[in-house]
Amino acid sequence: MLQVTLPNRVNKRMSYVMAALALSLGLVGLCGWIFNSVELRSFLSNGAVMMANSAIMIIIGGTALILLNGGYVKTVRIIAGVIFIFCVLIIAEHLFGIDFKIDNWLFRDIYSNIDQQPGRTSLLTAINLLLISSAVLLVTFDRFDASQLVCAVMFLLVYAALVGHIFGITGLYSSGDYALPFHIALGLLLMIMSLVFYQSDRGWIATYLTYLKGRNIALYLLSYLLCAAPMLVAFYLFVFNRNGFSPASGIIVLIILSAFISLPVAYLTMRRFNRMDSDLETTTERLQMALNAAKLGSYDLNLETGRMACTPQCKANYGLPPDASFNFGDLFNAIVPEHRERVRAEVNTAIDNHADYAAEYQVTWPDESVHWVKAFGKPQYDKDGTAVSIVGVTIDITGQKELEAKKDAFIGMVSHELKTPLTSVKAYLQLATNLAEKSEERTIVDMLTRADVQANKMKNMVQGFLDVTRLENGKLKLDREMFDVKTMLEETIEEVRLQTENNEIELKGCESILVYGDRDKISEVVTNLLTNAIKYSPKESPVVAECKRDGAWWQFSVTDQGVGINPKEQKKLFERFYRVQRPEHRMVSGFGIGLYLCAEIVKLHKGKIGVHSEEGKGSTFYFTIPV
Ligand code: ADP
Repeated sequence: MLQVTLPNRVNKRMSYVMAALALSLGLVGLCGWIFNSVELRSFLSNGAVMMANSAIMIIIGGTALILLNGGYVKTVRIIAGVIFIFCVLIIAEHLFGIDFKIDNWLFRDIYSNIDQQPGRTSLLTAINLLLISSAVLLVTFDRFDASQLVCAVMFLLVYAALVGHIFGITGLYSSGDYALPFHIALGLLLMIMSLVFYQSDRGWIATYLTYLKGRNIALYLLSYLLCAAPMLVAFYLFVFNRNGFSPASGIIVLIILSAFISLPVAYLTMRRFNRMDSDLETTTERLQMALNAAKLGSYDLNLETGRMACTPQCKANYGLPPDASFNFGDLFNAIVPEHRERVRAEVNTAIDNHADYAAEYQVTWPDESVHWVKAFGKPQYDKDGTAVSIVGVTIDITGQKELEAKKDAFIGMVSHELKTPLTSVKAYLQLATNLAEKSEERTIVDMLTRADVQANKMKNMVQGFLDVTRLENGKLKLDREMFDVKTMLEETIEEVRLQTENNEIELKGCESILVYGDRDKISEVVTNLLTNAIKYSPKESPVVAECKRDGAWWQFSVTDQGVGINPKEQKKLFERFYRVQRPEHRMVSGFGIGLYLCAEIVKLHKGKIGVHSEEGKGSTFYFTIPV
């Protein structure tokens, strides 16, 4: 994406200043007519008069440019349109000797020579004003490139006229009977500059200003040539007059002088470019080294043609040799069919939202083996906001995925093996408690109850791990039935109460509502949220469970006054194995699977889960499911 290096604010201010100067210049000229002062009418211009209409048009032009900067585009379009038509009429008057009497509409010049049309704008001024009004009109229609072309041509003409005035070269500022006086040329130059500064973040100028260090070179070069040109002309004229050169030898001298002036510029530019080239090479080498070390492939996808420029590592991630042709069609075909639509949707969402995308998908290599690839990409847009390409990197994550699968399999196996003996332990504990109760051995009953609480905690943990592996293998299924949430909540809270000694759990506002879902799984979610609230808050601080019906949704929430979670961590809480890495959280044991499971179970019920929390103050976890 192109970026303008000059802050636009600075350019806007310059645009205002230039427009204000032009306006003041016009005002001085007009005052010359109002107060009948020849000095003011011809200030800076050795007796050449600024015509009343020209002064008025420069004032209107300066005002229009100020309005343009203020955002009144439509008003400016109308003003520029009127000036444009007015200039066309003046030019017609000059060329065809007609008198539309338009000069009288604007300013009745009572002091002028009767032979002269009162205050009539000269032909050259009218042509220039016509050009500048068309440049402004083009800007109001967002045709920045065309407007800048007109400005460039005008700039050259007006600049030449100014140089002509300074060095007395009549040909540069006059043609036949018509001349462009110095003050008018200056006013025009100010207006052009104002318009150019106004659109400096658009069109060619934006491109010209953008190229990193090249921008400075361009600016130095422009300033150097602007300063050198008048000196060159002056020196040439001086030598020409003194020595009475013939035109042919004059041209030769001119060529030698131009070469003399251009050589240092060319040398400096070349040196600068060479240094930039070598900087770029070093940076590219470093980047390539980093990419190779991380086995990252990089690509640049043209969205219009589907052509991709890929590094060898990028092709290797899809099982291809470095010289293989590889375009978007090939990439899409390599993705296994089950993942294609998801990847397409993720890319489209990133393009629509002007965001980066990251997608993991499986690809089939030409040798039929299946691999995992992770791709990151950043869409690039043209100036109209249309996405034109995506640049990004790809990485082969097959090894990482295999390790994860092995870890899941191991956890699944261990949990499964633990479940049977644990069930027996619980059964024996129950039996032993009954016996102890009968023989009224209070201490033993107490000890056995505590042992049962711990066994329950262990059972929940094992169940959690089993659920995680089932989820990963897509085997976690819901066993749906109609159930009353109130009864389920009361039972679950009672079970959690048995496991906690200090924290008080308060249940607020729960009515009997029938919900169609997996009772045990929803109860697991409630247990998880309650035990977390107890785990992550000080002993004896209250935990409040609340439920309410909101239209077609039933919402359950748990609020604690515990350690809380900062906003950055909140986004990641529901990821698998994620635990907050802060001392007050790490003191509590856990594996970071509880919330992940809760989120997945709620998602299977088509509900939503979330958290509101403030660090140090407490948290509210909530979920909703359809009634
Ligand atoms: P864990 O077994 O680590 O508690 P969870 O998935 O249940 O796993 O929770 C993930 C992380 O979220 C926890 O490590 C903890 O840092 C944070 N967390 C969960 N509930 C709360 C809470 N009520 N207050 C503060 N932090 C919490």
